[in-house]
Amino acid sequence: MVEKVALIGSGNWGSAIAKIVGRNVLQHPNFDLEVRMWVFEEIVQGQRLTDIINTTHENVKYLPNVKLPENVVAVPELLKSVEGATLLIFFVKGVCEQLRHKIVRGARAISLIKGVDAGGQSGLNLISDVIKESLQIDVSVLMGANIASEVAQEKFCESTIGYTDLANAEIFRLIFNTHYFRINIVQDVAGVELCGALKNVVAIAAGLIDGLKYGENTKAAIIRIGLMEMKKFAKTFYEGIRDETFFESCGIADVITTCFGGRNRRIAEARVLTGKSFEVLEAELLNGQKLQGSLTSKEIHDILAGRGIASE
Ligand code: NAD
Ligand code: 13P
Repeated sequence: MVEKVALIGSGNWGSAIAKIVGRNVLQHPNFDLEVRMWVFEEIVQGQRLTDIINTTHENVKYLPNVKLPENVVAVPELLKSVEGATLLIFFVKGVCEQLRHKIVRGARAISLIKGVDAGGQSGLNLISDVIKESLQIDVSVLMGANIASEVAQEKFCESTIGYTDLANAEIFRLIFNTHYFRINIVQDVAGVELCGALKNVVAIAAGLIDGLKYGENTKAAIIRIGLMEMKKFAKTFYEGIRDETFFESCGIADVITTCFGGRNRRIAEARVLTGKSFEVLEAELLNGQKLQGSLTSKEIHDILAGRGIASE
């Protein structure tokens, strides 16, 4: 079977991954050479963003100064972007309902979205489960210490695929793995995905203590306590979470990188220094990029409060 890849989303991370996947499909037999990338259409400098990407091969708004391979094609219509696709890579949530019954038989998905879906019986859903239930397909996840701009500049890092179906994990490893983006696979979707979501909450805490000028010892404590709380949270809500997952790139490594380098840390520090709200700072400082950690913090707090365990 010829595999065909679609990227659903084209922000900072979506574009950095488009560079990797676009190149990798050219290296392996049995892959369609065209990779479609769904772009939420907007006008940038008087032009449609999709037109800019398809002529300059650069996402000038979300990942400037990085060339994308020419076989990555920006598509503004969601359904057209997934036509014929057997491998779906998700960067945005909230579009699955539009894809229901519209994807090819035998397709598989992977979510690179770092967040949770507040809902379900316990108040908590994995985004991978939401995709799985909407589309009735196997869904893996990829999370890791991966600040998009550094990955786009080909600086060495690692990332973790959490999987249920080994064969699907191996196919996804093939399209993501490069000499500078090294993939490990672990059979623990919930553990990997919750690491990706919860480390953003820890990063908000790290940014706040940076703003308060508490110093490096406090930050190290935030990182250590945060990691322990991530593990406790994951084990409270899901069976079969593996301790080793927290030592993969998606665990300790992503907590460290985000607490030092990420958008969540930066905006939380600015929150203390300026007194402005997260929403205002996101709009002022991120040029259309989204802040995940403040939203996830609230969702996680509400889920814990709903169970009467917020104080833990
Ligand atoms: P981003 O924050 O750069 O961009 C936001 C995206 O949302 C853009 O693609 C924009 O076109 C789109 N958008 C804006 N308004 C929209 C609307 N109304 N409807 C639909 N789409 C709309 O996105 P990103 O950095 O690619 O992040 C995607 C996911 O990847 C997030 O869950 C993030 O936590 C995760 N992630 C990000 C990084 C990183 O360094 N940027 C690294 C790893 C994981
Ligand atoms: P920020 O969203 O805080 O920039 O983190 C990006 C990330 O997930 C790094 O792994």
